[in-house]
Amino acid sequence: MTDGAQDDGCPYRPIIGFYHAAHCQGKDLFARIAVFVRLTGEAPLTATILDGKALSETIRAEVALEAAEFIAKTGVTPCLAAVLVGGDPASQVYVRNKQKACEKAGLLSQLHRPPAETTTEVLLALIDRLNRDPAVHGILVQLPLPKQIQETRVLEAIAPLKDVDAFHPENVGRIVQNRPRFLPCTPLGIQQLLLRNNIPIAKANVVVVGRSDIVGKPMAIMLMQRGPGGDATVTVCHSRTRDLPALTRAADILIVAIGKAKFLTADMVKPGAVVIDVGINRTDDGLVGDVDFEAVREVAGRITPVPGGVGPLTIAMLLHNTLAAARLQQG
Ligand code: NAP
Repeated sequence: MTDGAQDDGCPYRPIIGFYHAAHCQGKDLFARIAVFVRLTGEAPLTATILDGKALSETIRAEVALEAAEFIAKTGVTPCLAAVLVGGDPASQVYVRNKQKACEKAGLLSQLHRPPAETTTEVLLALIDRLNRDPAVHGILVQLPLPKQIQETRVLEAIAPLKDVDAFHPENVGRIVQNRPRFLPCTPLGIQQLLLRNNIPIAKANVVVVGRSDIVGKPMAIMLMQRGPGGDATVTVCHSRTRDLPALTRAADILIVAIGKAKFLTADMVKPGAVVIDVGINRTDDGLVGDVDFEAVREVAGRITPVPGGVGPLTIAMLLHNTLAAARLQQG
């Protein structure tokens, strides 16, 4: 990390030294703007907010419309079965929100709640039952699972046609080969946010920070694929990356998914870049992302807030995938 914003808390320091000085000497806002415009010939940068909540409502309305048409044509109502093991409060909230979203879109939902001390075998038997139930079209196992459960065995047991989270190796393989059946909900939501805000992806330098199977890895693969929503040049960073700020500063689109509150600071962002904050961190100050929002918004061109950014899109794309699963199973 450079000597950036943390040193004196000034978000302008990394943009332009003189502007930073004017800011910190307490000149009024107009004086600061005048300094910036005189030096750069441009208006100061304050990022436009990328409103994930509003877009999620649009997508949910689209799914509701398509679901109604599908139900009228086939007589089949798409159904998502959620499996929630134990009583983790955050997981309970996530599952409840997903169920409510299903209902609002005219889809059915089921909730299966094995106790925290359940075994892998019991869970596999439940998944087998849901796989064979023709009334269930999508299966979602809420993660994380308790330590005694073999997570990989459980996720691999989900029938690939009902795998709405796209975690099954068959679906992951299809994504890598650019012939996806389902795309994982969070990366798909981010891709939609970029596309529907007319943010150029093709030829862009994209930096993804985080390499999880759920977000970072599929996100990087999707944006590097040939075709619409892809054709970016993607760099993936992680905890062992050397000189992370040098890489993030080269990004036109910067996607951060690491689970560390306010980790990405203003000095790590190129002026005008698009910053997508995937992080959800519970702190004493409430829910915050992986990006130091207040400082980074003064440098970035566009930025997602937390909450109200990526989170709601994840749920919208789960509904999209549940409808897609029902279509696939209808033949
Ligand atoms: P994860 O499995 O927790 O993995 C974290 C990743 O971040 C790892 O690849 C890790 O690198 C990397 N990392 C950790 N510290 C780092 C550092 N100092 N510098 C660079 N990379 C670092 O990730 P996840 O499941 O994708 O979750 C990430 C965050 O997104 C969490 O806050 C989670 O709650 C949130 N999330 C939000 C949504 C949503 O809908 N908004 C969905 C999913 C996740 P290594 O691989 O080297 O360990």
